[in-house]
Amino acid sequence: MRYYPVYIAISMNFDKAQLQYFTKKLMEWHRVDNDRSLPWKEEQDPYRIWLSEIILQQTRAEQGLPYYERFTDNYPNITALANAKDEEVFRLWQGLGYYNRCKNMLFTARYIRDELGGVFPDRYEDILALKGVGAYTAAAIASFAYGLPHAVVDGNVYRVLSRFFGVDTPIDTTTGKKEFAALAEELLHKKDSASYNQAIMDLGATVCKPAAPDCASCYLSTKCVAFNNALVADLPVKSKKLKVKERYFHYILFTHQGSVWVEKRTGSDIWENLHQPYLIEAKEPLTLSQLKKSASLISLPKEVLSSMVYEGSLSQRLTHRIIKTYYYKCELDKQDLPILTKGKWVDNKALKRVAFPKSIVSFLEKKSYF
Ligand code: SF4
Repeated sequence: MRYYPVYIAISMNFDKAQLQYFTKKLMEWHRVDNDRSLPWKEEQDPYRIWLSEIILQQTRAEQGLPYYERFTDNYPNITALANAKDEEVFRLWQGLGYYNRCKNMLFTARYIRDELGGVFPDRYEDILALKGVGAYTAAAIASFAYGLPHAVVDGNVYRVLSRFFGVDTPIDTTTGKKEFAALAEELLHKKDSASYNQAIMDLGATVCKPAAPDCASCYLSTKCVAFNNALVADLPVKSKKLKVKERYFHYILFTHQGSVWVEKRTGSDIWENLHQPYLIEAKEPLTLSQLKKSASLISLPKEVLSSMVYEGSLSQRLTHRIIKTYYYKCELDKQDLPILTKGKWVDNKALKRVAFPKSIVSFLEKKSYF
């Protein structure tokens, strides 16, 4: 941990005047100058708030916006979402990544339909108990839909609080999470938790941004520890750097008279429930001849192997992973091949209705399969 002996808060016993100043100025900024406009702002329907929060987990607002609109158009209430087919919902989710979110969202919608009579819970503890809902999302729903006094703590909040109060406890540690949660609860405007939560998230997104924050126009700058001590670039602090691992997916598009063979991903790995062509994952990128000699393909008939051609490659970056995908095509003269056991043949015209990970969609579009 780094120390800033003069300025950085050693304990969470902040000056009361500093705490009051923060909440007062933040609310003032929200009333007078916060012009961030998002379709879910001022929303009080718990279903729509929940949907927006699930979509926005690990996703920027601009990226999540069209998804939110598509979901609310297709499924205007929780029962409509609960009644939808898995395949349809996964296809709508396509491109957002983190497919577990989509799986949990469907599970929760069906749980609310079947166990709670289609009515969204209105107690914080009951909201928090829903699958896929953590403390942040529960606080957002509880405050925006029901005005309950629970403070949100997300990346924006960590950043604003660590900079304004000069807290250098790493935000990715248990201690840091506890300290920031306690500080956020203390600062919360209890009578107007919805406006307060909206204000702090918007300030973090539009003024106190990760890079190049607009301190010159910030309502909080007079008493901001980071701003007044040139520590803005040093806060918040994280204890570990993200390790990014590469994975190498070699996809073989087995085709036959206008159809492509696809299988559904299972197991608890990335892209669960989405579809893909036949996959060979390797520890390193393989050349075409190495691929043909791999355990999965070596027993295939010679004429099949000789018709296999390389089609291109694409990379997709996830939070902890870079997935490098390599595509090969192999036209078969009949549909049965012993290695094609768990999937199905899909006509090219129907491929657009199948849910694929983003990189596969990009490849299929590029090669005009859609
Ligand atoms: S003055 Fe700058 S660092 Fe401090 S809260 Fe405002 S934008 Fe953030």
